[in-house]
Amino acid sequence: MWHYEKSGCFTVKSAYHLQQNLKFLAAEERTGGSSAREIRNWNWIWKTCVPPKVKIFLWSCCSKALPVCERLQRRRLLEDGNCPRCGYELETITHCLLKCAYARQVWALSGLPYGKYNCDLDDVEQWFKLAYTRMDLKEFGYFATICWWLWFSRNKWIWEKSDIMPPSLCSHAQDFHFRFLHSMAGIPKEVQHPTMLHWNPPPSGQLKINMDAAVSRVGSVIGIGLIVRNWRGECIDWKTYTLYQPLNPESAEAIAALKATEFGVDKGWKKFSIEGDCLSVIQGIMNLSPSMGMLGPIFEDIKKITSDLDSFQALHISRNFNNAAHSLAKLASNGYVFTSVLPSDIATIVTTDVSH
Ligand SMILES: [Zn+2]
Repeated sequence: MWHYEKSGCFTVKSAYHLQQNLKFLAAEERTGGSSAREIRNWNWIWKTCVPPKVKIFLWSCCSKALPVCERLQRRRLLEDGNCPRCGYELETITHCLLKCAYARQVWALSGLPYGKYNCDLDDVEQWFKLAYTRMDLKEFGYFATICWWLWFSRNKWIWEKSDIMPPSLCSHAQDFHFRFLHSMAGIPKEVQHPTMLHWNPPPSGQLKINMDAAVSRVGSVIGIGLIVRNWRGECIDWKTYTLYQPLNPESAEAIAALKATEFGVDKGWKKFSIEGDCLSVIQGIMNLSPSMGMLGPIFEDIKKITSDLDSFQALHISRNFNNAAHSLAKLASNGYVFTSVLPSDIATIVTTDVSH
């Protein structure tokens, strides 16, 4: 009698599970810190470095409390138990978080290698525990946050018929996780990355380049706007770029950061900062991101070309206060051609920015 399958029959799948279980226990013994008993109850969830709602989500997954379609179909509450997104197989919790093409895309972009492993696991608790034993607490927190966002995005898809594209899901999860880490005590000061709540001029003797990217209504034209100001808040230079290529918003923001940096370096400025409203891009440039993902090469370029500068920083500002760069980017995305006169509505924003 094979004890690892309810029917008592040997199957390759159950043998695989057993093997994974044994691997897991072995990994646990190696780490020494977490005993099997501790893992078997829910302590590992409560120790996770995430906000309470994400902990509750992990717990709901493990206690099979989530209303996935497969479960609703089994209880005769739903006729079709297939995944509402891909329709390809039954929507179990592991399908939703791991096996669905959508989830796979998210894991591939997340920078976490873990999503790609163990794709044959059907047991969500086992998958979580494997991730928990192999990652450090912060990394596991990011992993758990992505799982929460996958579930959030699934519900948005079902109930609101609106979709979150995988790259934005990853950047939302990164922002969310970092904001949480920052809010906790014990994070060193230099890792904190405050968001400016109004536009601030750079220190005397330095320049600040505000940047933004805008995607045209048709979706295949990207406008980038840069505006350079001195310590008095006076606009001393500006530039727009129009790129004819489809990019997701986060990639467009990363390209805007690269253009802003190149602009400053080409001008021969030795002390300047760039400032934008996409937190994941700013964190990527300042090395605060848990994983650099697909935009890593752009961040590396920025670091390379700024290594000789006397002072360089990437700063985050709330979208509401990045208006000057935003308006320029918008113009550029509509094919506006660069002229030597700053459009008057943008000149007005520049004046308002320093009058707070
Ligand atoms: Zn699916």
